[in-house]
Amino acid sequence: MNYCASCRYRRSRCSSSCPLAPYFPANEEGERNFQAVHRVFGVNRIANILRQIESSDLRDDAVRSHILEAQYRLQYPVYGSVAVIVPLLHQTRQALLELDRLLNLLPHNNNTSTPVLNDQETSGNDNPNQEILRPPPQ
Ligand SMILES: [Zn+2]
Repeated sequence: MNYCASCRYRRSRCSSSCPLAPYFPANEEGERNFQAVHRVFGVNRIANILRQIESSDLRDDAVRSHILEAQYRLQYPVYGSVAVIVPLLHQTRQALLELDRLLNLLPHNNNTSTPVLNDQETSGNDNPNQEILRPPPQ
């Protein structure tokens, strides 16, 4: 029997009913994912979360999101996944602004009634995500 990464770490027997075995198999990727999740969240917390979720599809999603968040948290200790999400939001906003500008250059374009970005998205400061990136007060 191959012990899953979690059972190998805890030095416990891994059975066919091990709740973590499907998510952290005994291979390099399983070990790497388990180490990241364990370092950031702790194995007991993940096991408790999985016990509370009845749907297997949602358990899969929960584990995947915890693995991603743990990897980003280890890579960017201060902001975690926000360090990746905010620049992508900014890129998307810039692309939509550029698209809007280009649509207005097209001949016979009556783009005045359906802007790509609504007024709320285009008004205000230059970086709407600035609030998110500001460190919390001490
Ligand atoms: Zn196991």
